[in-house]
Amino acid sequence: MKRVGLPRALIHYKFSELWIPFFKELGAEVVISPLTTKKIKDIAVRSAPDEDCYSTKLYFGHALVLKDKVDYLFIPRYGGYHKNKVGCPKFIGLAEVLKSMIPNLPPIIMPHFNRAKGGDPRRILLKRAFEVGLIFTKNPFKIFRAIKKAFKAFKEHKRILIIDEETLHKWELSEIILNDFPLYKDNERQLKIALVGHSYVLNDPYSSLDIRSILKNHGIDIITSEQMPRRLIEEQMGKLESDLYFEYEREILGTIMYFLENKTVDGIVHLMIFSCGPDSIAGELAARLSKRHPTIPLLQLVFDELTGEAGMRTRIEAFVDMLRRSEAEQAILLTTKIHI
Ligand code: SF4
Repeated sequence: MKRVGLPRALIHYKFSELWIPFFKELGAEVVISPLTTKKIKDIAVRSAPDEDCYSTKLYFGHALVLKDKVDYLFIPRYGGYHKNKVGCPKFIGLAEVLKSMIPNLPPIIMPHFNRAKGGDPRRILLKRAFEVGLIFTKNPFKIFRAIKKAFKAFKEHKRILIIDEETLHKWELSEIILNDFPLYKDNERQLKIALVGHSYVLNDPYSSLDIRSILKNHGIDIITSEQMPRRLIEEQMGKLESDLYFEYEREILGTIMYFLENKTVDGIVHLMIFSCGPDSIAGELAARLSKRHPTIPLLQLVFDELTGEAGMRTRIEAFVDMLRRSEAEQAILLTTKIHI
């Protein structure tokens, strides 16, 4: 059985539900690198170019962990699925960079896909999937079954992950919880926070210093940018004076803009990655827009390999304290108005 390695980093967090059933149905053994650890980070920092963003460096660590355990590495050159916007250029170049920098890597399967380049995206995707399938079997029916199964699993994953507008409004009215149940004290009102960032930061406890658990333990109910209804994101993007070019930054900034405008959360936490070009554009725009809506505080946290857990935890706790204080101040203000 051929073993195919999937580094658990970057767009793995977007597409693993597509890739895993595909390779399994082809009869391959799928080997996924473990969750990021300090050891993986140290390998990553030693081997990746200094000027790379933290998330790309981590990718190097994950690929190296798999290097001697698999027959192939699967590192697609992904340009984006938006009809006229693109993903980060790092996703396209990564496979070639790894190949040129790290000796004795197993062969890399690196199909290229970029919807913005034109053509029928479904046909192109099918063609690429067939080409990859032929590495594992010469049976076209088996490849076709694997494609069908993978798309079905991926569609179901997205149906569960991305909520509809009705579900969003229920969450905004505190009728439902979307993520882990927050641990709040009896006399505390549950706070709501929009946690926004790339899926490979939001869902990687090591690179985000497990912010989701920290928020949960402070009684914070969260929604993530990944979960936001797509129509609302595109609606917010239409309000920008100049178009935002990067596909995933649209999801991030669109979520920030939605909550700044609708004020249905107590605060927004924006997870950013050091030396990420797209993040610095979206981050700057978000900071400017938040000045126009000062009632919804925005906390921007930048992560890199030197970020210390204690400092980050202190900043988050100070932010949560501030939200709780402003909640108490509003209550005093309201009481005063009632007395008058
Ligand atoms: S979008 Fe930013 S964080 Fe993600 S790979 Fe590109 S530069 Fe790195």
